[in-house]
Order: sequence, then structure tokens, then C-alpha cells
Amino acid sequence: MRGAIVLLCVLAAGCARHPAPAVRVAPESAPQTVQTTAPETTAPAIDRTDWRLLLVNPWNPLPEDFQVELAALESGFSVDQRIYDDLQQMLGDARKDGMELVICSAYRTLEQQQWLYDARVERAAAEGFAEPGVEAGRWVAKPNTSEHQTGLALDITAAQYRCLTEDQDQTPEQRWLMDNAWRYGFILRYPQDKCAITGIGYEPWHYRYVGKAAATEMTRRGLCLEEYLGEG
Ligand SMILES: [Zn+2]
Repeated sequence: MRGAIVLLCVLAAGCARHPAPAVRVAPESAPQTVQTTAPETTAPAIDRTDWRLLLVNPWNPLPEDFQVELAALESGFSVDQRIYDDLQQMLGDARKDGMELVICSAYRTLEQQQWLYDARVERAAAEGFAEPGVEAGRWVAKPNTSEHQTGLALDITAAQYRCLTEDQDQTPEQRWLMDNAWRYGFILRYPQDKCAITGIGYEPWHYRYVGKAAATEMTRRGLCLEEYLGEG
């Protein structure tokens, strides 16, 4: 049934901006060495207790004792503070290359994810679905199974095309991210050819921090997170 489960990030609600208590200014970043592919490296040992490799998907809910310390972004969204510097480096380098990126979702609380899910269930019920919860689950991750609750995931679009559709991958911004995100420790989390493994449809806007070593290895070997962790 994995292939039948398709979850999409929420468009309108997911892009809603939230006021942030504090805003840090993006630091100046050094130019990156240009490489077209991830370098050959020795495969790092996988430590499943590594916070950067936390697996949250339809079969692996967020741990009950999960806690995260957040850092606010200029956009008003927040992320796990431990990924802040690498994220700013990526966004800064993208800007230097002429890319105009917009973050339209990042960390979500359980309450926010619950609200999004409940709203989708309500809509499915209004549309006459016999099992509105099942229908809603195809589009919005059930509470505690959304990667957005980890603070390690972001939805990033091109400023000129802010729709969360597959056409997002046609934008120069998305191509830049797909080519370069691994250098900063991020991966395109839900690739088109991994839907049956991730349980989530193609999302060419959803990026997940896994750390530079893992991102490099996953990119080099063409693995999604589940495969990298041996759960594919
Ligand atoms: Zn997302």
C-alpha cells in the first residue's frame, strides 16, 4: 500500500507566514567550489542516533519525547537551530548565483500539523468521501508523521513560481537546489522515482537536512533517506 499513499505539503496554509520572536541576519558566506557531482568518498558509518538522520514518515512517527530548539528565519519561519548556519550558507550562495528563493514552510508544531490535517479531513467530508480521513491522509501528513515537525525540513520555491506543483522543478531555482543542496547538507527528500519507498509523492520543493556527509553519500549513490538507513 505504500505506493498508494501520497502525501503533499499543504499549499495555502503551509505558506502562511508566522511572526517570529527574533530574526537573525544571514551571515556573509564564502563562495563554494563548483562541482558537478558529489565526490567519491568512503561511506560513513551510519549512526541511527544521529539527530540529523531522524526518520519521520508514515511508518515512523516523531518520538514522543521529541524536542527541538529553534532559530527564526528572516521569512518568519523557524528551523532547528543546528541547521541554521548551513541553511543560510546555501541560501546566500544561491542568491549570489542569481537565484530568488522563497521559503514557504519550515518547522510546524503538532498543533499546526493537526490543524492542517483536520481542515483537510473536513474538506474531504464536505466533498462526500466515505472515508475522509483516508482521503485527507493522501494530501496532508497525519499529525506526528510530518517531517516539518522536526525542524529539519523546508519547502522552498522560486520567487517567480510559488506553486507547489511538479512544474516547480522546471525553475532555475529548483534546478540549482537539486544540483547543490547536498553541498550544504540538504537533500531533495521526496524524489520522483522514490515515491513507493518514501510513501510521499514527488515534491520538488521539500528539502531535508541530513548533514553534509550523509547528503554527499546519498547524492553520490542516488539513495533516498529510507534507503540510506536500510529501510528502503
Ligand atoms: Zn514540505
